[in-house]
Amino acid sequence: MNAEIITIGRELLDGSLVDTNTAYVGSRLRVLGATVTRSTSVPDDPRAIEEVLARAMNSADIVITTGGLGPTSDDRTKHVVARLLDRQLVLDEEVLASVRSHFESQGLAMPEINLSQAMIPEGARAIDNALGTAPGLLLERGGVILFVLPGVPVEMKRMVETYVIPFLEGRGLKRLAEERLVRTTGVPESEVAELVDPVAKRLARTDVAYLASATGVDVLLICRGESAAQARRTADRAAERVAELLGDAVYATGEDSLEQVVGYLLSMAGKSLAVAESCTGGRLGWRLTRVSGSSEYFVGGVISYSNELKKKLLGVKTGTLRKHGAVSAEVAEEMADGVRARTKADYGVAITGTAGPGGGTPEKPVGLVHIAVSWERGSRGERYQFRGGRDTVRERAAQAALDLLRRALMNPRGT
Ligand code: ATP
Repeated sequence: MNAEIITIGRELLDGSLVDTNTAYVGSRLRVLGATVTRSTSVPDDPRAIEEVLARAMNSADIVITTGGLGPTSDDRTKHVVARLLDRQLVLDEEVLASVRSHFESQGLAMPEINLSQAMIPEGARAIDNALGTAPGLLLERGGVILFVLPGVPVEMKRMVETYVIPFLEGRGLKRLAEERLVRTTGVPESEVAELVDPVAKRLARTDVAYLASATGVDVLLICRGESAAQARRTADRAAERVAELLGDAVYATGEDSLEQVVGYLLSMAGKSLAVAESCTGGRLGWRLTRVSGSSEYFVGGVISYSNELKKKLLGVKTGTLRKHGAVSAEVAEEMADGVRARTKADYGVAITGTAGPGGGTPEKPVGLVHIAVSWERGSRGERYQFRGGRDTVRERAAQAALDLLRRALMNPRGT
């Protein structure tokens, strides 16, 4: 089956918003074996929407639109759809009750403006919006299936997973492709590709994509099969093979973040953690506490930006600071030991570095970061030279600290 994706919103065209909805919807359709033949972004202008929608309804089997559905955008997409398909807008009592209860559950009365959301084209099926108020719509005309979805990514994704995919499966599309993510950090993309490419070429029915970011490289494996079970088997085998090739650079096979993996390892070991941060200014603590349930193992931390606080709150020695400077392996180590001793946590992690753009010297250039992990039976320290602007250096430092901790947790007896 052929599919077209239409994303609606002025911000998508003037550079203020990156269109992630197309990539997501495209990847879901690919997994179902549908071919996306065209994707178009249009401003929230009824004439522009009507023009691309009319064309898509005449050439594709499945059309999916996102955006322009909420009351703030005057429900433009819905009006255009009704006009194009020659349908009246009628009140849907169920949608009205659901929009009303969405507000009531927050102790609010439903604003008048939201009444319009309960009006849907005659014959359309409303798709419940569990995370917002604008319902999605499903319409069919002459064998063409049209999904009209909200623009907000989390709302749209929830509808795709819970409604669109099961509906299309019911219409005979089969999940004949499976995706696996092998997540790595600390190894450049070229090196990952060099290791994986020769093997990937020989993996049957498998496509490989490298998704590189400031914090690592994810290897995306898209595996096809004659049946869903075969695709799953192929994907499991391919992921295992690729993970083997990349060794301990791999922190997860799946969607897990590095902070989730570290949290899992700490929970399994029944150990607690405290952090001492300088140049990352709390970024490491923020990432650790993004994980629900992190209070089980994360006791807290110190943002010791000044030398004074490094001494006062962490017990870093004046002599060490004077001799080696704040950005040094010795200070990182004393920070990690200090935070561990003072909080009585089992593991202490410390970061000290120069995020830039100012403050670099020939001996200690911008991007130089020292990280240390300390625990009862050992310690680990690393020196990193990161590239990039201030925020990139800080993000990379937090990622490297989590990774050093992961390696320490996997080998607690080593030093
Ligand atoms: P509402 O009008 O109630 O906010 P809506 O369904 O009409 O919801 P839009 O107004 O079009 O959706 O978009 C809402 C927000 O969702 C946008 O401000 C943007 O942050 C995000 N969004 C919309 N379309 C996309 C897209 N294609 N890719 C990524 N984000 C998007």
